[in-house]
Amino acid sequence: MTLFSRRQMIRLGAAATVAPFFKLSAQETGKKQLGVALLGLGDYATNQLAPAFKEVKNGKLVGIITGSPDKIPKWKKDYDIPDGNIYNYENFDSIKDNKEIDIVYVVTPTGLHPEFAIRAAEAGKHVICEKPMAPTVADCTRMIDAAKKAGVTLQIGYRLHWNPFHLRLIEAVESEEFGKWKSIETGNGGRMENFTGLNAWRIDKELGVAGALYDLGVYAVQAALYTAGETPLRVTAKKSTERPEHFTEVPETYEWTLEFSGGRKSEGFSSYGKNGSYVRAELEKGKIGIESAYGYRGQKGFTPDGPMDFPQVNQQALQLEGQIAAILENKPSKVPGEMGRRDIQVLRGIMEAAETGDVYEFPDFNYPA
Ligand code: NAD
Repeated sequence: MTLFSRRQMIRLGAAATVAPFFKLSAQETGKKQLGVALLGLGDYATNQLAPAFKEVKNGKLVGIITGSPDKIPKWKKDYDIPDGNIYNYENFDSIKDNKEIDIVYVVTPTGLHPEFAIRAAEAGKHVICEKPMAPTVADCTRMIDAAKKAGVTLQIGYRLHWNPFHLRLIEAVESEEFGKWKSIETGNGGRMENFTGLNAWRIDKELGVAGALYDLGVYAVQAALYTAGETPLRVTAKKSTERPEHFTEVPETYEWTLEFSGGRKSEGFSSYGKNGSYVRAELEKGKIGIESAYGYRGQKGFTPDGPMDFPQVNQQALQLEGQIAAILENKPSKVPGEMGRRDIQVLRGIMEAAETGDVYEFPDFNYPA
């Protein structure tokens, strides 16, 4: 067995032990296409997820849940959504009686993910929840438990697990094609100039939790873990803010050093003050990495053998198709709630290390890298 397939087996085994296969509800039996309702019709739902359904064969956008009635006419028209599949945040628990909707996709600010994901699960719907999963590890556990109790799946909206550049990086490091990894650098930042409107929740502690660390840093942390192929042992971190007039509740920037086995390190940053989007690893036989690593498109990858050569893909369409296939085929998700919780464990460790200035030792993770 190759290293790659061995690690895949470990990952799937872990997923199976922590998230036992769920039963297909009667309404799904025989269905070839599942109905999805988007909850929270903001920028990401409107401009990325909804249009991606045009390229998804096994799923259809059939419903919406929104707190903004003014948005309804355009969605009805653009996606042919019947009145019976339109809900608001107050009446959406009655979605349990709607046989056309199999999946609720939660696309609200992070602080609201637990409430909506749990209500969707309790209504008997499979749940896809946007990243980062939830404010705290305890919130993640409540969400996972609610899904298990209801016999539905809970998956996180991680799209890079279907991106060919990232898959090539993972495969090259796992197979040791260019030797073992020695060090890793990951960073994800975008300078924020507007602090109101759609950005307001991102710098609010209750809704955005830790600002750029949660919104953007989760990608940099994920990349460190899937490049390393293991979970970290400990972390040191610091936080800083250059524009305190705007960043009153969350820091503008976090920088961290994750330590893995053998004392190997991964340096990382996330920021709303400086730009950057990369994952790079030093391997025994050269360097591998991706620049513009975390965007919807525009990835550029390199290996010790030269540039990576892949077409740009519609990540959201591939993600939706893959997540729906996991439900239809009753197989473990590539991006289950347990993975989302593992990443929140890392983010909370970074926050704790930055707060105390001490080394933070991670407790055991119950989902592998
Ligand atoms: P947004 O601000 O554009 O949209 C948020 C939506 O939630 C809006 O429709 C808003 O009306 C609704 N909402 C409900 N209650 C709210 C409240 N109390 N305060 C503010 N808004 C409220 O944000 P977005 O960029 O669409 O992000 C939504 C989610 O999607 C977040 O979890 C974010 O991290 C995630 N996201 C993921 C990706 C990705 O690449 N996977 C990209 C962007 C955003």
